[in-house]
Amino acid sequence: MGSGQVTSSVPSDFQGKHVTVAGLGVSGVPAAKVLHARGAIVTVVNDGDDARAREQAAELEALGITVRLGDGATLPEGTELIVTAPGWKPDKPLFLAAGKAGVPVWGDVELAWRLRGPDAAPWLAVTGTNGKTTTVQMLASILKAAGLRTAAVGNIGVSLLDAVLGEEQYDVLAVELSSYQLHWAPSLRAHSAVVLNLAPDHLDWHGSMEAYAADKGRIYEGNRVACVYNVADKLTEDLVREADVEEGCRAIGFTLGTPGPSQLGVVEGILVDRAFVEDRHKNAQELAEVSDVNPPAPHNIANALAAAGLARAFGVPAKAVRDGLRAFRPDAHRIAHVADLDGVAYVDDSKATNTHAAEASLAAYEPIVWIAGGLAKGATFDELVAKSAKRLRGAVLIGADRALIREALARHAPEVPVVDLERTDTGAMLQAVTEAKRLAQPGDTVLLAPACASMDMFTNYNQRGDAFAAAVRELGAGA
Ligand code: ADP
Repeated sequence: MGSGQVTSSVPSDFQGKHVTVAGLGVSGVPAAKVLHARGAIVTVVNDGDDARAREQAAELEALGITVRLGDGATLPEGTELIVTAPGWKPDKPLFLAAGKAGVPVWGDVELAWRLRGPDAAPWLAVTGTNGKTTTVQMLASILKAAGLRTAAVGNIGVSLLDAVLGEEQYDVLAVELSSYQLHWAPSLRAHSAVVLNLAPDHLDWHGSMEAYAADKGRIYEGNRVACVYNVADKLTEDLVREADVEEGCRAIGFTLGTPGPSQLGVVEGILVDRAFVEDRHKNAQELAEVSDVNPPAPHNIANALAAAGLARAFGVPAKAVRDGLRAFRPDAHRIAHVADLDGVAYVDDSKATNTHAAEASLAAYEPIVWIAGGLAKGATFDELVAKSAKRLRGAVLIGADRALIREALARHAPEVPVVDLERTDTGAMLQAVTEAKRLAQPGDTVLLAPACASMDMFTNYNQRGDAFAAAVRELGAGA
């Protein structure tokens, strides 16, 4: 971890600047409006040319903004800056042309960062392959319990632009950042930040695991107080070591085991802090009990420790950590306990859309009847199944890529009974849950943790989780 001078040239003045906004949509439309209002000459380019795009284009054109539909590849003449939607891939011709012409590219987060006022609230930033939303929400809950004015913002619905430019005054922001957003945010400097974990994901976008990790690692650049990392995930610690931070910034680990000095961890069911205490070589501060974490699954305790680390870096007292964790309620479809039927628990973790997430929720229960499958997005299942095999009572497989999971089960857990469901109609989930109920014994957990995306059978993971819960209720009513 080196320390370096942060150079940031902040062009707060957009007057007369030719700015190209790449992509209409949730980030593009507000970005175009803000830039236009600040005097920039804005051109929006968009690949699509559908009814929705035309509607948005008309709205912007009415303000005097130029919109080019159906051509997101050509760099408009005279462009001095591109502000892109975070999802646009770096190898797009537009960016190659920008690179050649020396035109900088910012994402929505970079724009918000540059536009924030001189007394703006500092950012406590969270990224990772899994657990981001849960952790920023826990963090916001802890900060609120400490009496601070705050909000969970970023990649979770509330746009950073709104948070930065809106009327509301904040003391501190809990910011969720995706790897795409970090890729396009070169001058972001958080107060403190965490990379929760790193597993292969979105590699088609980033090009390689190294590039993905490097983009995640940007979150630590220029941190002032703490770089929080996962002791169990060496890659996150490596990223801290490579980061260029401000003088005095500390590396703080979190662990599910007993913490060493400068770490937060767990001792006999208590979350403890050995980082932000006096004489950390001898002392530890009790923060909360494991049972204060909702739900107290291992990966969620890790999320709580990460949130606590950032909050403590901001100076929040121990009691607020406990109160904030107690007040926290997870979003739907994240290890949500739906019902108990005949002594069997039914748990909806539809949000487990990749193998890393599913592995975490499978580690939280035993024995499990596992409902899995959907779109694999290029993933392989051997490691997940091998690690979880001994916990499985049975498996019910659904969706387009279920054969991949079936084959992994045959290789690593041949004794586990598997039900393979071919149907993909709206009744499929009810049948899946019925089969799971048949396999389950009292004391078991039926766990929907698909390890796959949902779009082959459902609109999104919400609908998939709702279908699961509805099926459980239907079986309960008929019991
Ligand atoms: P994200 O915002 O990163 O997608 P969420 O908080 O929405 O993360 O959680 C998504 C899913 O990831 C959860 O349903 C759970 O299965 C899994 N998960 C949550 N936290 C972790 C963690 N720390 N490690 C591994 N998996 C996790």
